[in-house]
Amino acid sequence: MTAIQSKLPNVGTTIFTVMSQMASEYNAINLSQGFPDFPVSEKLIDLVYQNMQIGHNQYAPMPGLPQLREAIAAKIKNTGGIKLNTETEITVSAGATEAIFSSVLATVNQGDEVIVLEPAYDCYIPAIELAGGKVIPVGLNLADFKPDWQKIQDKITEKTRMIIINFPHNPSGAILTETDVAALKKILEENPQLLILSDEVYEHIIFDGNTNLSVLKDEFLASRSIAVSSFGKTFHATGWKIGYMVAPETIMKEIRKVHQYNCFSVHTPSQFAMAEYLQNEQTYLGVSSMYERKREFFQEAMQKSKFKVIPSYGTYFQLLDFSEVSDMDDMEFAQYLIKEKGVASIPVSAFYSDRQDNKLLRFCFAKGEETLQKAADILCKI
Ligand code: PMP
Ligand code: GLN
Repeated sequence: MTAIQSKLPNVGTTIFTVMSQMASEYNAINLSQGFPDFPVSEKLIDLVYQNMQIGHNQYAPMPGLPQLREAIAAKIKNTGGIKLNTETEITVSAGATEAIFSSVLATVNQGDEVIVLEPAYDCYIPAIELAGGKVIPVGLNLADFKPDWQKIQDKITEKTRMIIINFPHNPSGAILTETDVAALKKILEENPQLLILSDEVYEHIIFDGNTNLSVLKDEFLASRSIAVSSFGKTFHATGWKIGYMVAPETIMKEIRKVHQYNCFSVHTPSQFAMAEYLQNEQTYLGVSSMYERKREFFQEAMQKSKFKVIPSYGTYFQLLDFSEVSDMDDMEFAQYLIKEKGVASIPVSAFYSDRQDNKLLRFCFAKGEETLQKAADILCKI
């Protein structure tokens, strides 16, 4: 056997796959991996089918179908964003994961430092490491999962190339405020070498009348940022793996050099279908209220439990603090819940590079009410 030296020696199988597999093995209610259990719109499915039938089955243009890039630009403009050049500043990607990977590979050089706010979604660190960058983890405040901008500022050196942010935030559901945006702008003004990678995949799942404070809503921020989103989240079609990235032309030129060899182009009939589907803005503007009802339902159903419900302002995730319920660490407790109680969740320690345990589990509420009620009934009895 020829041995190879691992480029990612600390990486195993992602926690989402591990917990979903375990849920299936023990026949547990799966609120672990984030995916909806309800159907994609009939209209969108019909549009994909029609486009397959009329022969839109060969390679799409490398940066994405022009009509879809136009529709994405219109969506961004409609939701308060800046006007974009669809030729040069938008690229359709194979989900947000590919967008993040291609963006990091294109912009982070050997030895560059990248600040990652933890708890952090698990695809950022491997991308930085494969690019030869150095990960600088900075914890979000434990009380409310907000960024501590002074702490971030203190970690910036002349080698800091990028800060990765993700709001609405997976796993906590925290969102940005205007004060955060002002602090971020100040950091960029003071550090001309810095770029922001803004993972906004949950941009259309935000509650209580708030709207996502996208980096694309401000000319200056947009000029220094790569923004990433995912139709998987917005149209509850996580299996379609279609997303997009937005960046200034000079940066996008480099990102496309990676995208064209990492992916080249994305499923053509789906791109035609989404371009048309997006013409009705209700398709994305109505998503928040649908999930807000689910958040209310799940939180209400958890009222009588010993778990502490942490406020969730966006995403389809709910954190529950189990410190009054068990002394186990979060990984042990998540496994116990699957094996002994039949409910699967994600231990939040998996989102920290030092695997710190804060007695928090993440539950996905993108599920039918019956499923959420069943899970809550079990959890309330513990
Ligand atoms: N970023 C975050 C924060 C996510 O939760 C996810 C989702 N699963 C992704 C990126 C990846 O999105 P996609 O499935 O479109 O690749
Ligand atoms: N983003 C999803 C989550 O946070 C999982 C995606 C995946 O399994 N790769 O649960």
